[in-house]
Amino acid sequence: MAEQGAGRVLVIGAGIGGLTLAHALVRVGIDVRVYEADDAAGDRFQGYRIGLGRATIDALRATLPGRLAELVEATSGSLTGPGLLFDERLNVLSRDLEGPPEDARAVDRQVLRRILLGALGDRIAYGKRLTSHAETEDGTVIARFADGTEAAGQVLVGADGGNSRVRRQLVPQVRLVDSDLCGAMGRTPVADRFLRLVPGRGTMIKGPGITLMLGRMQFDREPSEAAAALAPELAMPYRESYVRWVLMVPPEHPAATGPRREDAREVVLDLIDGWHPDLLDLVRSSDMSGIGRSRVFDRPMPSWPVSRVTLLGDAAHLTLASGGNGANTAMWDAVLLAERLAEVERGERDLASALGEYQAGLLQRGNAAVEYSKENLKRFVPAQAATPRQTTASPVGRAEDADR
Ligand SMILES: Cc1cc2nc3c(=O)[nH]c(=O)nc-3n(C[C@H](O)[C@H](O)[C@H](O)COP(=O)(O)OP(=O)(O)OC[C@H]3O[C@@H](n4cnc5c(N)ncnc54)[C@H](O)[C@@H]3O)c2cc1C
Repeated sequence: MAEQGAGRVLVIGAGIGGLTLAHALVRVGIDVRVYEADDAAGDRFQGYRIGLGRATIDALRATLPGRLAELVEATSGSLTGPGLLFDERLNVLSRDLEGPPEDARAVDRQVLRRILLGALGDRIAYGKRLTSHAETEDGTVIARFADGTEAAGQVLVGADGGNSRVRRQLVPQVRLVDSDLCGAMGRTPVADRFLRLVPGRGTMIKGPGITLMLGRMQFDREPSEAAAALAPELAMPYRESYVRWVLMVPPEHPAATGPRREDAREVVLDLIDGWHPDLLDLVRSSDMSGIGRSRVFDRPMPSWPVSRVTLLGDAAHLTLASGGNGANTAMWDAVLLAERLAEVERGERDLASALGEYQAGLLQRGNAAVEYSKENLKRFVPAQAATPRQTTASPVGRAEDADR
């Protein structure tokens, strides 16, 4: 590999991981371009809330421009207070449900992505679906897009999610397969009677053979109002606080094997028929829901020959939602890759050793995060954890009771 600093970095995918990387590279003065398949920033629903560990939030603070970091904090919500375990008639079984660390925060995925898109300007190109990449003899990486255009750089990072095109070319032996985890998920705008169900870090309702989980996304400051004050250039839509619910759908249920559904309420109401009226009402009152089956890689991610092409986030380690750690891990990938590339930029090391060290850490961190998510699935669905192996502590901040 030629040694003239990190050169231009091409990031494929403007998800949470790719955007964090872009900010981290801008901060250390490295030239970066992000290529996103979607036609525009707000094209697609990006999911519900996620939990971020304190270490991840601190890393974001060190990465983002100050006003955007402040906005992340201002629009986050508390994950403290007792975790409750109920039966389906809302009799309290425990007030000590295991939960996220006291200092973790809930953030809405859509709001977080909007914030991360801020300040990157024309470094992001939309409507650029990568179809393949190639490395040339002179140390250039070429990205080819479905619209017939190309981009050239010195490093290419596949941050293009679980179905990564970059991974499929780089590590073709790894395949994406269905897991046993099928979840119905929705969100219900806050109302006092619903907030009472989830006063703290999270609530689990154990019915006969089925588990419903509730989490609150109560913004410290409403996002559009907070953005108007802290980062007026962002187009942040109004967003109401909400209670997020997740029901693990039994894998044999027809809804679990059918196509992804946009409205899960009917299926969920059928599965929780006879439960406490407040729970039925919570599901009925939701303004958004869906059902989907999680996909996983068919094996732990193996190493690949170190080159100018690497991976980040779900593209390298697709965790189950039960881990509540995929976004946290993707952000750490981004921060650590930017640190290695900054060392190259400063002339302290060569690119090959920097990318090799990054890859070793990525595989260790990512595979451990995947194992953790599989092991944690047993908490929710005792009999059917997806191919569990030995327990591995998650290596990065995580927040349980995860959701999108
Ligand atoms: C139900 C659920 C709940 C979760 N809860 C949590 C949680 O509480 N905490 C947590 O840490 N994690 C959680 N996660 C995981 C987390 O959402 C993901 O790990 C995280 O979003 C991964 O980010 P990413 O940037 O790697 O990928 P993505 O966010 O998937 O971004 C990939 C981007 O690449 C783009 N793209 C795809 N293909 C191409 C292409 N060919 N060319 C160009 N662009 C392309 C996509 O459009 C997308 O914008 C949850 C996941 C699920 C499913």
